[in-house]
Amino acid sequence: MLNTHTRNLYQDVILDHNKKPRNYRVLEGHSHMAHGDNPLCGDKIDVYLTVDENDVVVDVSFMGDGCAISKASASMMTTMVKGKPLDEVNTLFREFHQMSTGKLDPDTEANHLGRLKIFAGVRDLPARVKCATLAWHTLDAALKGDRKVSTE
Ligand code: ZN
Repeated sequence: MLNTHTRNLYQDVILDHNKKPRNYRVLEGHSHMAHGDNPLCGDKIDVYLTVDENDVVVDVSFMGDGCAISKASASMMTTMVKGKPLDEVNTLFREFHQMSTGKLDPDTEANHLGRLKIFAGVRDLPARVKCATLAWHTLDAALKGDRKVSTE
């Protein structure tokens, strides 16, 4: 279980990113985009990326409608992948997914998650896993050239 400090931090970060979502806009001139749906909760999200010729994510944004966790996760994702090369973005996606599904313990196993670790608590809330990972699945779909992704 999460200790009180982590739980409070989790709530603070979710609230903050909900109130002031980062990179919340349509990205003009983007090179990649996808639409993600989580019908279980009603979360919908569009993720936009601009990837340059060196395979670096030079800009990223999202728009959407959904629960607090889906929105906070999307907002925080954009701040984490902006400026990163695609191989690092793919590593983050893999590690975030493993952490959310309980396959990676970010406190005891090596990872690059940094402040994304606050989402580790969703592994105890199965209904919330899809909310937390929706933005990441949508980002992954956009990078693979798929325009649409659904958690169902
Ligand atoms: Zn949700």
